[in-house]
Amino acid sequence: MCLFCKIVDGDIPSKKIYEDDEFLCFEDINRLSKIHILIIPKKHIESFEDILPQTMANMTKTIQTITKKLDINKSGYRLITNIAKDGGQEVKHLHFHLLSGEKLGAMYKK
Ligand code: AMP
Repeated sequence: MCLFCKIVDGDIPSKKIYEDDEFLCFEDINRLSKIHILIIPKKHIESFEDILPQTMANMTKTIQTITKKLDINKSGYRLITNIAKDGGQEVKHLHFHLLSGEKLGAMYKK
């Protein structure tokens, strides 16, 4: 079973921020900014390439709920999803990184 499926099942602990029927949001173990959380579908979906448009629409709504809950919807944040080898995806379970809590620098660096 994949790492994030184990987190969904509670077999690996996580610092949970939010969850609903379809999605789970928890702190990234290796924080890159003051707020660095991951939003994942509870169901195993390998990457953004495999998500159905309707599920993505639901995920958008969940992410907007989370950014309001964290009060960063106006101050801002960065959303990233890495896809496959060239995208640098390490965990093969779709996740959006949500980075915030401070002014982030330019990201277009290798
Ligand atoms: P990616 O390179 O987009 O696949 O990112 C995977 C992310 O998962 C990295 O930012 C890791 O720090 C994070 N990560 C790995 N294991 C855990 C874990 N057990 N709990 C929380 N985050 C994790």
